[in-house]
This record gives sequence, C-alpha cells and structure tokens, in this order.
Amino acid sequence: MPLTNENLTEIPAGRSPNEDSGFFCAQKQFNAVSLSGGKDSTCLLLLMIERGMPIDAVISADTGMEFPEMYEHLKKVDDYLFRERGLHITTLRHPRGFEWLMFEEPKQKKSSLENRAKLGVPPYGNGWPGIRVRWCTGQLKTHLISKEVNRLKKEKNTVHYVGIAADEAWRCKGEVYPLVEWGITEAEALKICYDRGFDFGGLYEIYHRASCWCCPFQRIDELRKLRQHHPELWARLLEMDARAIAQYGHNPLGQFKQGWTVAALDARFAAEQKL
Ligand code: SF4
Repeated sequence: MPLTNENLTEIPAGRSPNEDSGFFCAQKQFNAVSLSGGKDSTCLLLLMIERGMPIDAVISADTGMEFPEMYEHLKKVDDYLFRERGLHITTLRHPRGFEWLMFEEPKQKKSSLENRAKLGVPPYGNGWPGIRVRWCTGQLKTHLISKEVNRLKKEKNTVHYVGIAADEAWRCKGEVYPLVEWGITEAEALKICYDRGFDFGGLYEIYHRASCWCCPFQRIDELRKLRQHHPELWARLLEMDARAIAQYGHNPLGQFKQGWTVAALDARFAAEQKL
C-alpha cells in the first residue's frame, strides 16, 4: 500500500492499520523503525510519532564511534519516544566494537592467513576500512540491523520503515520508505528536526555528515573541521592511526586515506593555520 499523508494521518495513535481491518491479515502488523540518529531517520521517527502511525520497535546500531553530540541526540530522541509512545530505542552493538575489529579480530580463513604471512601483516585485525573492504558498515551496522529485522520478520508480521530522503530514493530496496512517499528531501528532513527542537547539538552546522568521527571516507575538509571543533577526537584519531601504522605498516590495512596519514594531515592543517 503506498504511504500517503492522507492514509497515514487517519490512523489513530498507537494503533496498527490491521486493528481496523482484521480481514487484511490474520497476524497483527509489527512496525519496526530503523534509526541511525542522522537527520533522515530522526525526521522519519518524529513524523511517524506526530502522524499517529503505529510503532512497535525502534532499532539503532551503535558503532561506538559516534560523536558525543550524537549520543546526546539519541538520548533526547529516546526520552521523547518514551514520553510519546512508552517505548525505548533498542540499541544493537557488536560485542567487541570498532577498535577490536580494527586491531584484534583473529583471522580464520586459510587464504587470508597465507596472504598476510606473505605480506608480513599480522594474522589479526582488519586495519582501516577501505573502499574494497568496508568491514565496519557491515559488522557494526547493517548485519546487526538486518539480523534483528529478519528475526522480527520471521516471528511476526513485520513492516520495516527506513528513513531515506526523497532525493536519495535510489538507495531504497525492499523495505518501506515513508520520506520518499511523502517527497521529503534531505534539506527538508533537517528542517523538520530543527523545527521540533532536535538540533543534533549543532553537528550539521559544522559537518555534512553525522556518522563515525573516525571515518576514513570523510572528505579532507571534514577532517580539518574535526581537528578544529573536536580536538579530543582528533587526538584519538592520531593515536589510532599511529597504532595502525605500527601494526600493519604503510599498506592498505595501515593506510587511513590514500596518500595521507593522520599525522601528515595534522601537519598540513597546522601549517594552513599559520598562513
Ligand atoms: S561511517 Fe565510516 S567508519 Fe563508520 S561505519 Fe560507516 S564507513 Fe565505517
């Protein structure tokens, strides 16, 4: 069923569409919403609450490397969700976390062990995520969420709502995407959050993105801002990179960004400040 403002706003708060139309489906619909904490998924959740749409679970995956402002934002969203719907966010975490995966995870596959031995790379740790091996997104976010959603789908008649904005509709695949149905763009999603008092602690005033602060895929300009606005996180990033280089050397696993170590970026940004 396409989601429109009309058919959604008519659903009374806290009730499933199937409660009104029992003949549709024998099993009550279970409504699970994914929440990354960014502007699009936050906007989706706020609008679903506001429009009286049924919500049975809100699922979030914590990489452990989110900005402190993001953790505060998620706490604020959780408080609001609890006030409005008596629900808390279900937070999923890898049992060992980002740094364990990066530096310590023992490698098992024979081919991988042989390859590492040949290159003189230790048989543990994944190193910095790279374009070809973006292990972090899978292990810390998507696998956790899809495992939980698949479990729910197996046990209940689950609909999974995902906050992708209308101008990113190409990313949609197989779930329910109300923001796309409602034609809400990324810029509008941010404004909707701001208008309702959710300002992400100012993160979007500084950065284009609000995901992991240590992400090697962020642009140089974002890293420059990280050094300026979050010096404590920048110091941690310098430490992580020094450890990666010591453990893996100057090869793809030990390489933060093509052509750049974090220390080299630090020197570059410091020199720019003196100009
Ligand atoms: S934001 Fe970057 S570091 Fe974090 S999970 Fe995604 S790709 Fe990995």
